Amino acid sequence: MTMAKAQKGLMTTAKKCPACFGSLPMDTKECTYCNQSVKASINKHGYANKPINWYAYLMCFLSWAGLMIYIWWVFIK
Ligand SMILES: [Zn+2]
Repeated sequence: MTMAKAQKGLMTTAKKCPACFGSLPMDTKECTYCNQSVKASINKHGYANKPINWYAYLMCFLSWAGLMIYIWWVFIK
């Protein structure tokens, strides 16, 4: 019990930046090396979880929508 608790404490003192692999304190929200924003939580490999990049999802969706409209306009209309 005590051993497991100590091990858990050791595991959670530092996390790794997913972008540059630098080690960061657990409570930081931004990497001190590359300024990548990271989540406070870590995954099973000890790397900080990346926040969801909604802007990238939106851009992906818009580019696909643009492509579909283009195909419709050129071949179907
Ligand atoms: Zn970093």
